[in-house]
Amino acid sequence: MSADTYEIYAVRYARHDRKASENFYGGDPHDGPMPLDYFVWLIRGNGREVLVDTGFSRAMAAKRGRDHLRCPAQSLRLLGADAAKIRDVVITHLHYDHVGNFELFPEAALHLQEREMHYATGRHMCSECFRGAFEVEDVVGMVRRVYEGRVRFHQGDSELFPGISLHLIGGHTMGLQVVRVATRGGWLVLASDASHFYANMDGERPFPIVWSVAEMVDGYRRMRGLAESPAHIVPGHDPLVMERYPAPAPALQGIAARLD
Ligand SMILES: [Zn+2]
Repeated sequence: MSADTYEIYAVRYARHDRKASENFYGGDPHDGPMPLDYFVWLIRGNGREVLVDTGFSRAMAAKRGRDHLRCPAQSLRLLGADAAKIRDVVITHLHYDHVGNFELFPEAALHLQEREMHYATGRHMCSECFRGAFEVEDVVGMVRRVYEGRVRFHQGDSELFPGISLHLIGGHTMGLQVVRVATRGGWLVLASDASHFYANMDGERPFPIVWSVAEMVDGYRRMRGLAESPAHIVPGHDPLVMERYPAPAPALQGIAARLD
């Protein structure tokens, strides 16, 4: 356990009503409603603020038919964080709901797995089944930041700061990474889309948007090895996160949850 520990906040910014069959590879025999939430995550402590993912804009929500609740930068302000001053942003992967909104974070270095950039700009994007959750302007925006010298490429496991590390999982996309954080309650893993819902990892039922099913299932096991306990793994899109963890203040009910 690292001597440096951090606070972590899940910030919910959008929502999508859908059926369970959209959330499991091979569908779901009951196929009832199973809505999906969209988050960014703020890690704070030891004089640092690290944001995990940047979310999508209201315009993108309209294009994709998602309900936009509020701009992530506005929610960060409610937590006392100024998006314009954040210096480190981890991009877990390049799907439209995790990257973009670049103009909100003008000071940030963007931390990405090199394998994810290869994936998003390589031959697999010729197939709709792989490129469907990417937005070309987000990917081009990332390429522009590479040429501005603002992208920090990571290869595999990498320590960002004492108590914060990145771990290449793959599976959902070729270069998906998760973030492991030292907290007062032990090692916590922000799974992002290594597990959209608790039910994906708990039941070993992969999500249907997938680069490699084998890597995705291995990822469930790897995260259990990285986290203090299975309860210390926070899925990337599960509405249960807002129920299982408390709001940091009464006014932030439904907007943010404190995870540490
Ligand atoms: Zn996602």
